[in-house]
Amino acid sequence: MTITSRVFAGALAAVIVLGLAPIGHTDTARPMIVVAHPDSDAQAAFLMSNFDETHNHAPGEIELLIWPGDLARLDAAGIDYHVAIEDLLEHDAGGTKADSVQVLPGPDRDDYRRLEDYNAEMKKLAKKNPGLVKLFKMKRPSLEGRTVYGIEIATNVTSSATDGRPIFYIDGIHHAREWPAAEYPMLFAHYLVEKFGKDRKVTSLLKRARVILVPIVNPDGFVYSRESPAQNSFLGAGNGFEGYWRKNRRSLTGVTVPAPRRVNPDAYGVDPNRNYSYLWGDSNGGSSGIPVNQTYRGTAPFSEPETQNVRDIILSRQVTLVVTNHTYQATVLRAGGGRAPEDDILERLGGVVADILGYRNMPSVGYPTTGTTDDWAYAAIGSLGYTIEHGSQGFHPPYDHEVGQFWKQHMDAFVKLLEYSADTRYHSVIKGKVANGPATLTIRKKFLTPLSPGNPTGEKAVRERVKMNLKTMKDGTFEWHLSPSDRPYEKKPENFILTISSGGKSKTIEVHVDRGEVVNLGTIKL
Ligand SMILES: [Zn+2]
Repeated sequence: MTITSRVFAGALAAVIVLGLAPIGHTDTARPMIVVAHPDSDAQAAFLMSNFDETHNHAPGEIELLIWPGDLARLDAAGIDYHVAIEDLLEHDAGGTKADSVQVLPGPDRDDYRRLEDYNAEMKKLAKKNPGLVKLFKMKRPSLEGRTVYGIEIATNVTSSATDGRPIFYIDGIHHAREWPAAEYPMLFAHYLVEKFGKDRKVTSLLKRARVILVPIVNPDGFVYSRESPAQNSFLGAGNGFEGYWRKNRRSLTGVTVPAPRRVNPDAYGVDPNRNYSYLWGDSNGGSSGIPVNQTYRGTAPFSEPETQNVRDIILSRQVTLVVTNHTYQATVLRAGGGRAPEDDILERLGGVVADILGYRNMPSVGYPTTGTTDDWAYAAIGSLGYTIEHGSQGFHPPYDHEVGQFWKQHMDAFVKLLEYSADTRYHSVIKGKVANGPATLTIRKKFLTPLSPGNPTGEKAVRERVKMNLKTMKDGTFEWHLSPSDRPYEKKPENFILTISSGGKSKTIEVHVDRGEVVNLGTIKL
């Protein structure tokens, strides 16, 4: 080929491209990361609610994953931006693979688990360690009919499920594409089982507390993202957007099984981490009422089976600390975004955990979000709540660049969080002795969780209820570890309604207990 003809070929290609796309910013056909520079709070709120925010933001900057049509929308809104990662697929596939597999807790791996790996490993852990690990199914299957599994880890895990020990709840994959967010909880399960009986701290913690672990809250979204053919080879079929799916797989057409891949990819899904009730429904608060948007919050709080499942665990078990895992900002974020009445405690404990991880301790991603897991858990039951944004290299960078390299500090961080969940300074205790002998205790509490003013349901609040059970020891003694009876944002004191039942007799009393307080009810006669 002569130089002239090469130049001519280039010019011809340019003419063809210009013929297809408008002059100026062309739209992307491939997943791309841009950093937008909002010049007002209103622009920032618009971006957080209407675009696919990655969680990875800096002051004055909101990072976005660009879906088809988004560049034009940014231009139309007059929002300035620059391209940070031109080709996200290439970026996430990039780098050299480690020569050997990593020595990790559980099976050695050099690639992210698939859904069947998670389910098989949880089943196997429970089967091999019957006194220590219990497999459970969440109440509701996913929209596409998948069973959502979790495991509970503690000494005597099955024989005394209602013994009153405090619970550390940890989950992953509210957002489908954030694969390390499930890896770390799964590795933690293996780590606890391997260290039990060998490591003094882990052994002691599993005697004093329980761990409830749900690595994949949103299995439909995860499968869609993880099994995307383009994910395995960025030169493969498809445009690669499937791998970056964020939401669940709610169909907007009412058809349960979504349309084939790559057809109208925005047309499905609710963002589960905008679907919790506390302050749900704020279109200027990082959630959207527009179904095709990536922060679509659903038609009502707790409209999705994924969030209903999490809610039901947290309202029925004595959860004292909640950690929900995401990627990526290398931050430890806390409930209330810095405005919680107990932000001093949340900030202090979060700081210790952030130091272990080498992350920043931040109140929030830097811009408002509403309807999120940790905000709701803290508002509803006063459990300490954290969101960890793992890593700094992307939603799911090559395995050995993220999980393979950094897994150990994540285990140490989770052990520290388990320690905090078991520490009576940070939760509440009700104890006593039922004179009649062994008894069943039930705590109930009904309350209203406020929604955002002006939310589309027209309601100001939703009704929620706590109901937890405990069985006393044979001699009637009990020690119930739980979150405080007051809800942190409510000004009036609130009580638990405690019913004690034994041998056909029962008694109901009201109990008030603060964080860090031990209420001793003494000997109770029925
Ligand atoms: Zn996320």
